[in-house]
Amino acid sequence: IKIKVTELPIPVAFASAFEGEIIRRGDMQVEFSSHKAPTCELVQTCNADEIEDHKITIVGKDLDELEQGQTFALATYVQVAGAKMQPDFEPVIERKIHAWYNYMEGVMHTGQRNQIRVRVSKAAYEAGLRLTHFAEVLYNMIMDEFDIVVDKCQVTIVTDTDKVQELLDTVAMPTYEKRDERLETLTDESVDQFYTCTLCQSFAPSHCCVVTPERLGLCGAVSWLDAKATKELNPTGPCQPISKEGCEDEVKGIYPDVNRMVAEATQGALEKVTLYSIMEDPMTSCGCFECICGIEPFSNGVIIANREYAGMTPLGMTFGELASMTGGGVQTPGFMGHGRHFIASKKFMSAEGGFERIVWMPKELKDDVAERLNKSAKEKYGIDNFTDMIADETVATDEETLMAFLQEKNHPVLGLDPIM
Ligand code: SF4
Ligand code: ZN
Repeated sequence: IKIKVTELPIPVAFASAFEGEIIRRGDMQVEFSSHKAPTCELVQTCNADEIEDHKITIVGKDLDELEQGQTFALATYVQVAGAKMQPDFEPVIERKIHAWYNYMEGVMHTGQRNQIRVRVSKAAYEAGLRLTHFAEVLYNMIMDEFDIVVDKCQVTIVTDTDKVQELLDTVAMPTYEKRDERLETLTDESVDQFYTCTLCQSFAPSHCCVVTPERLGLCGAVSWLDAKATKELNPTGPCQPISKEGCEDEVKGIYPDVNRMVAEATQGALEKVTLYSIMEDPMTSCGCFECICGIEPFSNGVIIANREYAGMTPLGMTFGELASMTGGGVQTPGFMGHGRHFIASKKFMSAEGGFERIVWMPKELKDDVAERLNKSAKEKYGIDNFTDMIADETVATDEETLMAFLQEKNHPVLGLDPIM
């Protein structure tokens, strides 16, 4: 996305280079943290007549009135209006708050929604930085990057604890809940279009992700809603719509337009991609995969390793070794890269029987997906606590020990047809 803003009306530098900046407790002027006080960040769509463009309001004390070295409450409340604005774009804009706050020299931001921490350095404070500037940054950046959908934008920053709590309870939490419900009901069946994503072609020229509600981009960072917003904001950009018409196989996920769009996006390097098979024309990977799934031939199952896992897998390969086989934009039947979120989807390698085939995952990944995966396993297969049957590195890192564990747990994969 193009950056048009050259000068922001703030007293500190603003650049992506400051994103990794750490501000230690001893160097901080103040901190806002959900650990000690209510916090929230929210972008909300309004009618044009409900808000005033570029109106900035600070409710409660600004930085010069807050006691140095202490922790306070903080709400960042952005209201936008625009003929093309859709509530589906709110989380896409909202997630940018993290980056934009971090771009200010002397400001550190982590988290999102009602779980955030913001630190302001003494140096930035002494340079004159105040919360009004935070609001200016948001206003200017939103009007710069999202001007296609946002016509009017109003920013309110709240530090008064009671007012933050009230905003959190009455506006923010109900909105987050509504969004989560929307995300849960978003299935591949419930939408008319999927999207391509070719952002990674800069280093993997023959790679194209197909992003669906249930199978988000393998980097984990591009959801179907993000792809949809990207298309709206940048009509000729990396995300182009794919029609679902003429589906040839729902279980494998074969769509004529997926093949056509993938072939077009890769200049013919790829001609066929199935959405839900690991064996037949699996989706390619660039290299950013959050996870890699690979066939484990002894059990007829699959193992999944996540990028953070540095140890050995029962396939005798580390994540790095799996990655060298799976990346680079070539189809490697038996291996596929994917996002964490895809694991609990009923579409996850549904051509080969689905997530019932998962026999091993690193413990951290298993714990992370447990709630959703167990819910899906109950619904799809009637299995209780499915993740208890899945091995991890604490019980097995070789095939023999893995098999013994699966037999002991009576893992359902033992009753399935051979995968190859
Ligand atoms: Fe787009 Fe992510 Fe896929 Fe890269 S890995 S092409 S950013 S969805
Ligand atoms: Zn990538």
